[in-house]
Amino acid sequence: MVEGIKPAQTVAIVGVGLIGGSIGLALRQRRLARSVVGVARRKATLSLGRRLGAIDRGTLDLARGVADAELTIFCTPVPLIVRQALEAAPHCPPGAVLTDVGSTKLEIVERLEAGLPGGVSFVGSHPLAGSEKRGLDQARPDLFEGCVCVVTRTSHTARKPFALVQQFWESLGARVITMPPDLHDRALACTSHLPHLVAAALAIVLPSRYRQLAASGFRDTTRIAASDPEMWSGIFLENAEPLLETLSDYEKTLGEFRLALQRRDRKHLEELWKRSKVNREVLDKEDRLR
Ligand code: NAP
Repeated sequence: MVEGIKPAQTVAIVGVGLIGGSIGLALRQRRLARSVVGVARRKATLSLGRRLGAIDRGTLDLARGVADAELTIFCTPVPLIVRQALEAAPHCPPGAVLTDVGSTKLEIVERLEAGLPGGVSFVGSHPLAGSEKRGLDQARPDLFEGCVCVVTRTSHTARKPFALVQQFWESLGARVITMPPDLHDRALACTSHLPHLVAAALAIVLPSRYRQLAASGFRDTTRIAASDPEMWSGIFLENAEPLLETLSDYEKTLGEFRLALQRRDRKHLEELWKRSKVNREVLDKEDRLR
């Protein structure tokens, strides 16, 4: 830990949904903050947040919500994060640190590391935890236990805010990995955004007359096809270039399968399957898929 880093006493969570609510539950159950403030767009979210124990107090007013928070975490959909952080920053106390949980990082980190007023710092994060479900009623206090959390570092990232954000995620049970935001976005295009796209396409091409024959294989490959359309359209658009690149690799591989099938080429098909099996089994062997 960097010397002189104190855990935040007051933490504000902007967007108290699945991820924001889970952060609040974990902070409060582990007694990691004196006060957890929720900032929402609807009163009903704040009432539910208090009832479930995810926040101590709440407000619909962003400026009031962040006014005494040493740490503010933006847990709203990706396209909102930059605007909300820019709006909140002038109302934060001096020395405040802002972070986020957005599923893409380059645009958010570039704009916020450059655009915040003096005395307020931003460090990007992305906990690789969650599900196809959304909403505060799906929040869980143990969501981040054992998960990987990417915390971004660039040439503009200051040491103390970085250490505070790293320490914050570790205190919720996450394993922090540090990387530049562009690398995060290229990697996530491959490990998360492409799989969501493929799952969605599979769900779309299932004819309704075959539904009764969809079983465990279909379930396992398409669970994430039920993700929130607005949230995922935002993520795809924000990471369009890396996603298009990995989509090209995927189309090339589909082309190989197509050719092998057209040629009735058993050897080529088996070779493709062997590559697939080795790549998939190593993930289990290394216990990566938690
Ligand atoms: P969620 O459950 O839908 O929560 C989103 C929250 O943002 C809700 O509290 C919602 O308010 C609020 N919100 C939505 N639109 C808003 C608007 N226009 N103005 C103000 N507030 C608004 O979604 P989530 O899964 O927690 O995702 C939140 C963030 O986490 C996203 O940036 C996502 O990329 C990231 N993330 C998600 C996962 C995952 O698996 N779900 C994993 C890692 C990171 P209401 O309460 O009024 O609906």
